Amino acid sequence: MKNFNPADKIQDLQYFGEFGGVNPSISDSSTYTFLSAKTMFDTFEGNAEGCYLYSRHSSPMNLYLSKALAAMEGTESANVAASGMGAITPVLLQLCNAGDEIVSSRTIYGGTYAFMKNMLPKWNITTHFVDITKLDVVEAAINKNTRVLYCETVSNPLLEVANIKALAQLAQKYQLKLVVDNTFSPLSVAPALLGADVVIHSLTKFINGSSDTVGGVICGTQAFIDDLKNVNNGASMLLGPTMDSLRSASILKNLRTLHIRMKQHSYNAKYLAEKFENDGLKVVYPGLESHPSHQLYKDMINPEYGFGGMMTLDVGTLDKANELMEMMQNENLGYLAVSLGFYKTLFSAPGTSTSSEIPLEEQAQMGLTDGLIRFSIGLDNDIERTYQMMKNCMKKVGVL
Ligand SMILES: *Cc1c(COP(=O)(O)O)cnc(C)c1O
Repeated sequence: MKNFNPADKIQDLQYFGEFGGVNPSISDSSTYTFLSAKTMFDTFEGNAEGCYLYSRHSSPMNLYLSKALAAMEGTESANVAASGMGAITPVLLQLCNAGDEIVSSRTIYGGTYAFMKNMLPKWNITTHFVDITKLDVVEAAINKNTRVLYCETVSNPLLEVANIKALAQLAQKYQLKLVVDNTFSPLSVAPALLGADVVIHSLTKFINGSSDTVGGVICGTQAFIDDLKNVNNGASMLLGPTMDSLRSASILKNLRTLHIRMKQHSYNAKYLAEKFENDGLKVVYPGLESHPSHQLYKDMINPEYGFGGMMTLDVGTLDKANELMEMMQNENLGYLAVSLGFYKTLFSAPGTSTSSEIPLEEQAQMGLTDGLIRFSIGLDNDIERTYQMMKNCMKKVGVL
C-alpha cells in the first residue's frame, strides 16, 4: 500500500457545481426527463451512460459520493446506501442463493450478527460463526455450499484483527467472495488492495463523523455494483435502501476532512491506551504491543492514519462500568452513547447495548465480558488533560 494514499485519491477528484460552485450541485429530484423515448428505454436496460432515470437507482450526488469512496478504497466502483445495514444486507442477499452458506467472524456488529443468525435462515442461508483469527478453524468451516467469507477488519467490539491477505487467499482457493466491513479503519486499511472482493462501510461512524445521519457504502467491481443496481434482480435496487441526495452531499463534505480527523482519533486513542496500560488497567488497542495482532495490524495499515480511534477497557463488572461511564459523562469527558467516530468521546458497555443481540453464553465464549467498556476516542485537543480527568474518575469509582 506504499504507493496508495487514499486521502490523496479523494482530494484528486474534482466536481464543480452547476454554476461553477466549489461543491457539486445537489440534484433535488426523484425522477428525470428524457428528450427521446428511445433513450429512456436504453437507460432502463442499463445502456445509456450518464443518463439518470429514477433516484432509487442512481442520482448525481450519490454517484459523486460513491466515486469518492471507491477512490478511497481503491475499487472500480461503489454504491452508497441509506445505512450501513442497508449496504450489508443487499450484499449478502445478492451473493447467496437458497442453500448457500456463509462463514463469518463471530465478533461482528450486532445487527450484522442478528441478520445472519435470525433472518437469513428464512431464505435457507446458513451462517457458521468462527474465530476469524484462527485460519485453520475458518478453513474447516468451509464446505461445498459456502459462498461468502465475512469479517470486519477490526472487529466490533473486541478489536480483533482479521488477516485480510490470508483470508483472501482462502477465498480464492475455495472460490468464495471475501466481504470486509471496514467501518473501524477507514484510510488506515484498504481491504480491496489486500484481496477483498467487497468492502463495506457504515458511513454513520468515522467517515461522516458528525453523528447527524446514518449512511453506508458498498465498494467493489463495476460488475458487482451493476448487479446490485440491476432493475430486474439487484438487491440494492429492489430492497430500496437508497440514500437521500441531500445527505450524500453533506457526507461528501465531511469526507474531505476524514484524513485530519483519523490522525487525531488515532493519536488520542494511542495516547490514552498507553497511559491506562501503564497504570495497570486491562486495555485492548491494536496499537499496543500487548495486542495479540499488533504486528499483523502494523503491517496492514497505512501508518499515517495510525491504529484507529477504538479502544476497550475491562473494569471487571457491569456495575463498575456503568458507574464509571455515568461519572465520565457528568465530567463532560464524553457521552454514554452507542455509535462511534464523533468529535466527542463516546462510550458504552457492548454486552448490554450494541452486542446484546448475541446470547450471553456466546458473549462469554468470545471473551465479551460484563465489565467491558468500548470507547470511541474523540478529537480532544489536549489529550493529557483528558487523561488526567479520566484517571480521576477511575480513582473515584475504585477502578484505579
Ligand atoms: C454501525 C455499524 C454497522 C451498521 O451501520 P448502520 O449505519 O448503523 O446501519 C455495521 N458495521 C459496523 C462495524 C458498525 O459499527
